[in-house]
Amino acid sequence: NPLIEVEAVEDRLDAISALGLLDKHDIVLDGTDRLETKFLLNRVCVAWGKPLVVASVHRFEGQLQVVVPGGPCLQCLWPEPPEDGCVGTCAETGVLGVTPGLLGTMQAAETIKLLLGLPVLQGVCMVDLLRSETRTIKLPQRPDCPVCGAGAEPLTGIEVVELRELDHEQYTVVDIREADEVLARPTSLPNLPLSAWETPVSDRPLLLVCASGRRSLALAKRLRSEGIEAFSFVGGVSRLRD
Ligand SMILES: [Zn+2]
Repeated sequence: NPLIEVEAVEDRLDAISALGLLDKHDIVLDGTDRLETKFLLNRVCVAWGKPLVVASVHRFEGQLQVVVPGGPCLQCLWPEPPEDGCVGTCAETGVLGVTPGLLGTMQAAETIKLLLGLPVLQGVCMVDLLRSETRTIKLPQRPDCPVCGAGAEPLTGIEVVELRELDHEQYTVVDIREADEVLARPTSLPNLPLSAWETPVSDRPLLLVCASGRRSLALAKRLRSEGIEAFSFVGGVSRLRD
């Protein structure tokens, strides 16, 4: 398809880069080879209400799951993330070459259905190429799921994911973007650009907002290391309601 533009981003996906990178996209497809990364993607996507299409492969087998907002997530299936290395990576245990090809194609099909608003896979689809078998198991949402359940923890202790209204009573909210960014996407927040940062005096915790949540998280961490109570608004101004 010549109309598709592909942009490769060479970056290590960790808790901070995930927040900045995934924010700009509508659907996330997980083709990673580490359990820790899969569970991180699950947390970020559930927190932001972004669909996540997860595919995993191991030798002759593959698993496919579509995590949609309000539905069961990866940690409904695995409440305790398994230790990395418990099943071995593809590099360690090997994988039949066609297995990722098949799972990737199934992942693409689910993604196209998501884009078209068609019903997507419910539960977990398991493919066993050695036995030439496919089966789908049901997956109920766990009320006590640590990620999508009622008592789910926010992403980290310093990230505020949901801000129903800007709560000036609870926080001192500060926009830390640079002047040209504020001009391009104005908010009603007081602006203290990061490049000229001087910590304001406040008797309430600071809630920092930037474009994507990346700089605000880095600054919140720095301020905390200086003993100042600061939080970062996940997703930045793009997630603020006008
Ligand atoms: Zn869950």
